[in-house]
Amino acid sequence: MATPPACWPRLLLSSAPGPNMTIIQQPVVVTTTMVQQYRESPVQTVCPYCQANIVTAVSYDVGTFTWLIVSIIYLVGCVCGCCFIPFCVDGCKDAIHHCPNCKQQVGRWSRMYQGVRYKAKTGKRVHRQC
Ligand SMILES: [Zn+2]
Repeated sequence: MATPPACWPRLLLSSAPGPNMTIIQQPVVVTTTMVQQYRESPVQTVCPYCQANIVTAVSYDVGTFTWLIVSIIYLVGCVCGCCFIPFCVDGCKDAIHHCPNCKQQVGRWSRMYQGVRYKAKTGKRVHRQC
């Protein structure tokens, strides 16, 4: 075998398979992260607290959208108490997802910020990718 000129890069020389060289292919590890999208209805997921495979229990809580509707109704002129009706309507509230096993909150769906989901455990807002 002829010796290559000294000006050739060393990387090119070492990467060429020779007669005594064994090529070992590294295993490819694919990691898939599933982002759970919470809406109004219960979802099947794995609880981050007790690691159980669960279907979430949904309850409703007053959120930003509820206060917005109350404010609009108040500004329109319904000041005699009708503006508080959204506090009694689940369709105006945020959906809170709980684990039926350990009763921890695993997710929250806000009607006002539909592109925002709450990260379990930390409670920090995480923006949706799409
Ligand atoms: Zn749990």
